Amino acid sequence: MNNTLRRTIKQLAIAAAVILAILTLNRYLPAQHNPLRPIDLNDPIGVATHYKLARIKSDTSLCYTLLDKAGIGYSPVGENAGNPTCPLERALVLDRSNFPYSVTPLRMTCSTMAALYIWEHDVVRPQAQTLLGSRIEEVLTYGSYSCRNIAGTNRLSEHGRANAIDIIGFRLEDGREIQVREQWREDSAEGAFLDEIHTGACRVFSVVLGPDYNADHADHFHFDMGNGALCS
Ligand SMILES: [Zn+2]
Repeated sequence: MNNTLRRTIKQLAIAAAVILAILTLNRYLPAQHNPLRPIDLNDPIGVATHYKLARIKSDTSLCYTLLDKAGIGYSPVGENAGNPTCPLERALVLDRSNFPYSVTPLRMTCSTMAALYIWEHDVVRPQAQTLLGSRIEEVLTYGSYSCRNIAGTNRLSEHGRANAIDIIGFRLEDGREIQVREQWREDSAEGAFLDEIHTGACRVFSVVLGPDYNADHADHFHFDMGNGALCS
């Protein structure tokens, strides 16, 4: 056997091994860790979740399909919503998700809505049950779309792109109210809950900011699906 043939056989064997490894991984790796498998909003959060959510930012029709499959209620924003600085042509109104929100209408991009659903479903609901022994009655929010700059800068906030939401706290079915301003870093079940849902949000959203980031966030968590990457 000459050297060229030997080299070709070796290259073919390596290629076959790589293909076999990919096929095996694709078959046995759980969907949430497998970047090759399509996202389902009811999947647990995994190592591939960020990557899959980034992909649906640019694929609106796939994103709508995912919202429909998960049973999220949404409607288009009105004709004249938004303004020239902060157009809203790609935003939706959130009509129904896992929990009601204290502010309506909540206008946000499809990928923000998808990320919010995952966070509610896979982080907030189970952590409320485990740490607080109660269900969530309402999520308290400052809102989502708002045409403004980032505080202290001349850069447009992700809120101006309907790509962000601010969470103040929660009202529970048992009557308790949990507030970021009051219970962040508190040595209590409520403090542990806020810690878990902040950490969980970082596994879903592109940017998560809370009281540890700066004084502007002393009383809320900011989540967005912009192009940044920050968890603080
Ligand atoms: Zn914000």
